[in-house]
Amino acid sequence: MPHKILIVEDNRNNLSLLRDILTFHGYEIAVASDGREGVAMARELMPDLILMDIQMPGMDGMTAGSILKGDPATSGLKIISLTSFAMRGDQEKFLEAGFDGYLSKPINTRELPILIKKWLES
Ligand SMILES: [Mg+2]
Repeated sequence: MPHKILIVEDNRNNLSLLRDILTFHGYEIAVASDGREGVAMARELMPDLILMDIQMPGMDGMTAGSILKGDPATSGLKIISLTSFAMRGDQEKFLEAGFDGYLSKPINTRELPILIKKWLES
């Protein structure tokens, strides 16, 4: 059974890039384009890993992540925040909020599969 990864990201280019790389590496991918949809899909699919963009219209990734981490039914899901260069100083904040890691944008395409594997195995 391939690992299931949910990508929650409003930027189409980032979404395509992440989906293409992770599909190539054999993962089963689901996508959502805002926090509200991300929370709903996480509850439905119970993915092995969630990549959660922080800056999204509607419900942002910080809120969506906090909802999932605060619900006993989904608190065990692994959530990685996608943070932009401008948010570098805030990355510790996401770990404190219960996120399991962070990934900096722009995405390092060579490093991504290595990090994903590490998070899935942790
Ligand atoms: Mg965004």
